[in-house]
Amino acid sequence: MNAASIIPNSLDLIGNTPLVRLAGPSEAAGCDIFGKCEFLNPGASVKDRAALSIVRDAERRGVLEPGGCVVEGTAGNTGIGMALVCNALGYRCIIVMPDNQSAEKMATLRALGAELVTVPPTKYADPNHFVHTSRRLAEETEGAIWAAQFDNTANRQAHIDTTAPELWDQLGGKIDGFTCAAGTGGTIAGVGFGLKSFDENIVIALTDPHGAALYEYFENGELKAEGSSVAEGIGQGRITGNLQGAPIDTQFRISDEEGLEWVSRLLREEGLCLGLSSGINVAGAVALGRHLVSQGRTTPRVATILCDTGFRYLSTLYNPQWLESKGLPVFDWLARD
Ligand code: PMP
Repeated sequence: MNAASIIPNSLDLIGNTPLVRLAGPSEAAGCDIFGKCEFLNPGASVKDRAALSIVRDAERRGVLEPGGCVVEGTAGNTGIGMALVCNALGYRCIIVMPDNQSAEKMATLRALGAELVTVPPTKYADPNHFVHTSRRLAEETEGAIWAAQFDNTANRQAHIDTTAPELWDQLGGKIDGFTCAAGTGGTIAGVGFGLKSFDENIVIALTDPHGAALYEYFENGELKAEGSSVAEGIGQGRITGNLQGAPIDTQFRISDEEGLEWVSRLLREEGLCLGLSSGINVAGAVALGRHLVSQGRTTPRVATILCDTGFRYLSTLYNPQWLESKGLPVFDWLARD
């Protein structure tokens, strides 16, 4: 075995994910579309990077000490990444999440050893919102930090330091555009800042699901939502600390139906089983590719994020009854009998 292929520390498995050319989306856009395989991180999502960066930053600032505790409010993936990072570094991990998230995510968090606190979903202004509940718990717990992924810019720093340079290297500096949707906004802002530092002509586009307010914000300066989405982990109604100053050049609004169409096609045609935010990102990448082609760029190269594994959504996205209950089309192979 080649010694160079051995990873010295399990935490070094986070990041350095492969970049794959997506045949169907490339054909649809008339240019090259690439997906960053974040579902291959140890926690199977893009959020491992943010979790590790937040913990390392707190250690550097001396606020997280050996044997300490990390508390976070999360819809799931950050909690999964955080639980793994905390296990590897000997910290206690408490996760607060709304109780309407997928059963797999909750079961996974418990299985990983995180202490799980669930609260009813409510609006952000409500003091019982999961984010505020997690802050209070951190304040009340001895030796604990509040990870605060929405406003803690150690989150986007992970993408400035790792995701953006990886994309730049993997594409040999030949990249015309990048797009993804925002949850905390850490990925879009961090990759945006990072790529612009290499070449300010790279077009950074926000892909917004329905029910989120950022499309209108970047289009008209007004935080205004329209419609709704069942996508987990994305859809933001405010300018988080991570989104502040993000270099967004253009924006697209993508429906769940369009996102699901790509989830279905990527699985059936390319053998990639992904969550809905990945499908929405790919739809956004196709829109950005077409936009760049229409602007006269010759064979532009566009990258996006394949955020998490579809195995996390067997009871939702890949369950015909659930899809029907949401008024969404059922994947044809699931509707067979
Ligand atoms: N997709 C999924 C499935 C997620 O869990 C998240 C994180 N909330 C995102 C996309 C968005 O990432 P970010 O928080 O960096 O905006």
